[in-house]
Amino acid sequence: MKLNDYPLQTINVSCRKCDRRGRYTKKKLIERYGADIALSDLRLLIADGCSRITNHQLGTDPCGAMYPDLLYLFDASKDVQGSEED
Ligand SMILES: [Zn+2]
Repeated sequence: MKLNDYPLQTINVSCRKCDRRGRYTKKKLIERYGADIALSDLRLLIADGCSRITNHQLGTDPCGAMYPDLLYLFDASKDVQGSEED
């Protein structure tokens, strides 16, 4: 999924491992990184400064930065699909 495909105008990013948390405007992120950047790449840029990112080469426990809203949306769509199968 690309930044341009993000379904919400406000993008929340949080890291479960280092408690980093950020809220960004999609429009501003597009201005800064471009609409075509992959969300999986973007989260690493947003989490820049996270000690887990810095230590990425050393260990097997990289930064856990992710999009909580996106997970929620995916979970919601899974529930809808599940109920359709019944
Ligand atoms: Zn982190």
